Amino acid sequence: MRHVTFVRPALGEGPSADAMTPLVFAILRELTPPEIATTLIDERIEPFAPVPTDLVAMTVETFTARRAWEIADAYRARGVPVVVGGHHPSMVPEEAEAHADAVVIGDGEAVWGEILRDAANGRLKPRYEAAVGAGPRPAPDRSIFVGKRYAPVSLVQVGRGCRFACDFCSIHAFYGTHREQRPVAEVVAEIETLPSGRMIFFVDDNLLFRRDRFEALMRGLAPLKRRWSCQISIDVARDDRLLDLMAAAGCALVLIGFESLRRDNLKQMRKNWNGVAGAYDDVIARLRARGIMLYGTFVFGYDADRPEDFETTARFAEAMGMAIANFNPLTPMPGTGLIARLAEEGRLLRPTWWLDPAHRYGDAIFRPLGMSADELRDGPTAARAIFYGFRSIAARALRGLPRWGVVNTGLMLLANFVSRREIARKQAAPLAARKDPDPTGEGAPCGSP
Ligand code: SF4
Repeated sequence: MRHVTFVRPALGEGPSADAMTPLVFAILRELTPPEIATTLIDERIEPFAPVPTDLVAMTVETFTARRAWEIADAYRARGVPVVVGGHHPSMVPEEAEAHADAVVIGDGEAVWGEILRDAANGRLKPRYEAAVGAGPRPAPDRSIFVGKRYAPVSLVQVGRGCRFACDFCSIHAFYGTHREQRPVAEVVAEIETLPSGRMIFFVDDNLLFRRDRFEALMRGLAPLKRRWSCQISIDVARDDRLLDLMAAAGCALVLIGFESLRRDNLKQMRKNWNGVAGAYDDVIARLRARGIMLYGTFVFGYDADRPEDFETTARFAEAMGMAIANFNPLTPMPGTGLIARLAEEGRLLRPTWWLDPAHRYGDAIFRPLGMSADELRDGPTAARAIFYGFRSIAARALRGLPRWGVVNTGLMLLANFVSRREIARKQAAPLAARKDPDPTGEGAPCGSP
C-alpha cells in the first residue's frame, strides 16, 4: 500500500464558490501512516485529475450519492478498490455495497487503520462497523488542503451528536442519543495553530452540548480574540449570560434552525421546543443587541404549511434583519423518522429520490398536504428571490452595520452574493450531471504503476 486517494464528489457542475474544507479527510490523513502518500480530489473545486493509487476512500452524502457511485464504479472497473463511508452509506449499506468493495458504517476513524491493513493484504471486508463515538479524535492534518481554493474559513469540530431528536434530521438518525465533546484545552490548542485572520466555523451540528461545557468553551475561546461562527439550537437565546459569554468570546454569526413560523409544524417535526425560547423576534433581538449576526434556516412542506407561507417567511426573515437565510423544501433523508412516516402514509413520490435520474435539486419528493408538489418545488425559490434581491441585501446590510461593524457587514455582503450565485447554480440541477460520467478517464492512470 503506497497511495490512497480521498474523493469528495460534487453535486452538479462546478466549481462551487462556497465549498469548505472536508475535515474528515484531514482526520483520516492524520491517522494514515506517513509512508502512505495521499491525494485529495475535491470535485466541488477542481477538475477530476486521477493519479496512480492503491485505494480510493470516499465520503458520501445523500445528495452526492449518484455521483459517488459513478466514480466508485469507474475506479473499480479499473481494478482499484473503493471504500465508502459517511451518513449515506451508514443508512443504506446495501445500496453502497453494490458500488464499493467496503462500506464503513458509523465513525470511520475507528476502523481506518484496519481498512488500510486489509487493503494492503488484498483482504478488504465488505463491511466495517464502528460504534459511533468509537475511535481516536486526532487534530486534523490540514496539509492536504494546501493549494486548493476553499472558502476562507477554518473548520473546527468540538463534538458530535445533538441533544434533540428532530424527525427530519439525519444527524439524529446517525448518532441517536450519542453525544461527545473534545476537551476545551485540546480545541483551543488546535485553534491556536490556525491562520489568525480567518473566521472559524465550528462544524458541530449543535454547539450547545451542555451548559457547563459550553461556558468552559466560551472562557477558553475569549483570550484567543478570534471571530467564529457556529450552528446552535435556539434555546441558547433563553439565557442572556450565555449570549454575553458568546459575544465576549468572539462569536460573529450563529446558524439557527427556525424551520417554521407555524407551531403545528414544529410539533410535528418534534421541534416544539423551538418555541420555548420565546417568540422568534425576541430571540433575534437578543442576538442583535450583542452584534451577533443570524443565519436563519426554514423548511417548507410540513402538513400545516400553505402556499402563502413562502412569502410570509421570507418577509419575516427580511424584517428581522437576518444576515443570511435558507429556504428549503422538506427533504426526507434515508434513516430518518420523516421518511419512514411518509412511506407509511404512501406519500413518497420518489422513495429513493437520490438515485432517480429524473430528480432535480429542489424537486418535491413527497405529496404535501397543504399545497401541490409543484408549489412545494417553486415556493422556496420565490422565498429566496425575495430575501436575496439586491434591495433586500442592501437594506439588511445598512441596518446591521452599526452593530455588526464594517468587517462583519462586508462578510455578510459577500456571503449573500455567494448564496445568490450558489442557489442559481444548484436549483433544478440533476444530482449527477457531470460532463465526465467516467471521471477516471479512458486509460487513466489508476492503480499502482
Ligand atoms: S436540533 Fe438540529 S442537529 Fe439537533 S436533532 Fe434537531 S435538526 Fe438535528
